[in-house]
Amino acid sequence: MVIMTEIMVGLEIHVQLKTNSKLFCSCPTNYRDVEPNTNICPICTGQPGAKPLGLNKHALEQLIKIGIALKCEFNNTSVIQRKHYFYPDLPTGYQRTSKPIGINGKLGNVRIREIHIEEDPGRYELRLGTVDYNRANVPLIEIVTEPDMKSPADARVFLEELEAILNYLDAGRDEPGSMRVDANISIDGGTRVEVKNINSFKGVYDALMYEVIRQQNVIRRGGKVQMETRHFDESTGSTISMRKKETEEDYRYLPDPDVPPIQISGDMIQELKEKMPELPRAKAERFETHYKIKPDDAWILVMEMEIAKLFEEMIYNIESQGEFIEAQKVASWIRGPLKKQLNYRKMTFAESQLNTSWLTELFVMFNKGELSDRGMEQVLIALFEKKKGPKEIANELQLIKTNDLSEIERYVDETLESQQKAIEDYLSGNEKTLNFIVGQVIKATRGRVDSKVVKELILKKIKR
Ligand code: ADP
Ligand code: ZN
Ligand code: MG
Repeated sequence: MVIMTEIMVGLEIHVQLKTNSKLFCSCPTNYRDVEPNTNICPICTGQPGAKPLGLNKHALEQLIKIGIALKCEFNNTSVIQRKHYFYPDLPTGYQRTSKPIGINGKLGNVRIREIHIEEDPGRYELRLGTVDYNRANVPLIEIVTEPDMKSPADARVFLEELEAILNYLDAGRDEPGSMRVDANISIDGGTRVEVKNINSFKGVYDALMYEVIRQQNVIRRGGKVQMETRHFDESTGSTISMRKKETEEDYRYLPDPDVPPIQISGDMIQELKEKMPELPRAKAERFETHYKIKPDDAWILVMEMEIAKLFEEMIYNIESQGEFIEAQKVASWIRGPLKKQLNYRKMTFAESQLNTSWLTELFVMFNKGELSDRGMEQVLIALFEKKKGPKEIANELQLIKTNDLSEIERYVDETLESQQKAIEDYLSGNEKTLNFIVGQVIKATRGRVDSKVVKELILKKIKR
């Protein structure tokens, strides 16, 4: 049952920036593939007397690039504050977090309230009681949106575009868990609930769907939605109450006397503006107008930078060979058969390391009718092995479609001989049986013939 509900969703998104060193010290930011507590120093473990170095400038530039992409204005200066809380993952007893740097931005229909920079805490293993400070002081930004998304699906679309932008800018760490989302949701003008620390887009979508229904039920039973922080349980797809929301004062924000305020000069912003690549939204619009492809296809292509690149390179390759194929056909092929194989393997195009020239060659063969749908798919699957080109594979697997009538006739004869019953069935009036017989011939040739040719041959033979 669908109940009409007005939904408001606002997101607070933490993104780990792609930098080599930490935010206030020179330790490497790799905290995953190393022994615990190896990439640490007196600064990021908060030893008495250790003073932070100046703010990592590359991290600040990454933030500004993201801010430019999100159409933000920038404050000239921003103070680093200490946000106090007590937890073993925080060696200093406070988290350094800046005041807003970018403000008043927009992505699609969603207003961006602000972006600021902060340090990631370490990792505390509650069950073992162990702590690993490799992650402590890794540069993070937090992007805060206004509550402008009107459904869980809106939130997912927003996050997908944001992720694509981070990719285009090479600004976010591209590994699982590098983006963590706090999702705020209210329904019908009621109190908002915050679901903390969700680390996948599917998780955000599932948590929001769960909350819509949970909050509807609270209201239907005559209750009121409580202002609270909830935790998302990935295994059950449900949210669980953690605590009543703490107020800002609980953190006792204080300016950090150890680090000077961040300066953001107009020159710095201008310089970075000039280095901005074409972003997904602009690219999609160009694909639509220049290549005349369907808007939803353009959108799918640009969501993965490497796929967008593949699309344009394939068109270029085709034209360099003096051929012309409508761009829409290329787009449909990438979005259809190619994406299907990638999704099946849970791979991005970049991860597949598929060779663009080979893909072009395969597509051209298919487009010329040298391969059937099934034949093309088989060659594509074999291309993932990266050992041979499509021509060689197609020849070896004998997938090239044949127009040799005597060969096709041989297959038809063989099939008809073994399908006496089906023929009688057809001749006694069951039209559908003909398609079955055609299918058997195509199967025998492993998809190397056109069904029309086969059908005509069969009809000629059995009418005789
Ligand atoms: P607080 O000051 O309590 O942290 P904010 O106003 O700063 O609350 O908002 C935090 C997040 O909650 C923002 O992402 C914002 O978009 C979102 N939010 C605010 N009000 C609502 C609401 N009524 N429904 C859903 N999300 C909301
Ligand atoms: Zn350090
Ligand atoms: Mg807040």
